[in-house]
Amino acid sequence: DSQLNSNYNFENFVEGDSNRLARSAGKSVANRPGETSFNPFLVYGGVGLGKTHLAHAIGVEVKEKHPDKTVLYISAEVFSQQYQDAIRRKARIDFIHFYQLIDVLIIDDIQMLSGKTGTQEVFFHIFNYLHQNRKQVVLTSDKAPVDMQDIEARLLSRLKWGLTAEIQHPELETRINIIKNILYRDGVSMSEEVIQYIAENVTSNVRELEGSVISLMAQASFNHLEVNIDLAKTVVDKFVKNVKQELSVDLIQKTVADYFKIDLDVLKSKSRKREIAQARQLAMYFAKQYTKNSLASIGAQIGNRDHATVLHACKTVNNLIETDKEFKKYAEDIKIKLSM
Ligand code: ADP
Ligand code: MG
Repeated sequence: DSQLNSNYNFENFVEGDSNRLARSAGKSVANRPGETSFNPFLVYGGVGLGKTHLAHAIGVEVKEKHPDKTVLYISAEVFSQQYQDAIRRKARIDFIHFYQLIDVLIIDDIQMLSGKTGTQEVFFHIFNYLHQNRKQVVLTSDKAPVDMQDIEARLLSRLKWGLTAEIQHPELETRINIIKNILYRDGVSMSEEVIQYIAENVTSNVRELEGSVISLMAQASFNHLEVNIDLAKTVVDKFVKNVKQELSVDLIQKTVADYFKIDLDVLKSKSRKREIAQARQLAMYFAKQYTKNSLASIGAQIGNRDHATVLHACKTVNNLIETDKEFKKYAEDIKIKLSM
């Protein structure tokens, strides 16, 4: 069993500037596994941008075009667990032999091998064998090879033998096409206005884009409603807000410092200059709103203040928003920045 998910294929992997290189290299690899110079083929990029989808698509396409070839998809985490098991059962050699028989080996999320020296070593061994025998290796990672931590140098250097392709965040046009693709797949229609609204507001990654479209479809069908722009706004805004809960205190203070064009160090400093003190208070206020951190923890992270200072900041900001138009505008601008 190849462990492939046939729903993740090339047909429904929407092409765009953000993934064009990775997608087309992946196609070449699938057409001529082991025979191109893209070996290993490493795809990297942030969460939810389509690495796993593309990895499966390559395997699915190999199966279609080369039914005689053995393909295996496995996550690096499971690979590592299997290896630990094999060691325990004193079956290391069997483990290696099993992997040496594969024509197209796809390992997802190899950043998970970081620090696992035993697994790295056995993978190195298997990799060399497969590569020498012109078998194809496909890997994904959430980081570029240069940024990978605790991966052995000799393994990293092997990654450079082939092709490394990045999947980036999809641009607006690609986001629109991805939404249309989901709607088409599910036989649902939505107005251009609604599609545009979702694409403009859900910018984080493709997984969340999908999530927002699905919750919108679900809301509409559950309430027997048409998907109009008002429903879209309500559902999408709520969706984006929930995602926003994952903001960190650190990201919030950086965003605020950025907005006021002051150094993060200055924001955290003891300075009582009005603009700086207000920026600091806004950072505390948003940290309280958007993170689950305690007042004490927020204070500790924003210039080593105590919980009473943070509480006071929240009250001050609430007052200023009500009384000071200019300040209110700052707060609104920052809120928008934080929701992107
Ligand atoms: P990653 O492995 O990079 O975290 P996934 O491959 O799991 O991301 O993708 C997350 C979701 O987004 C999946 O449901 C996937 O099908 C979808 N997806 C990602 N990129 C695309 C794309 N270009 N076209 C269509 N769907 C995509
Ligand atoms: Mg993945």
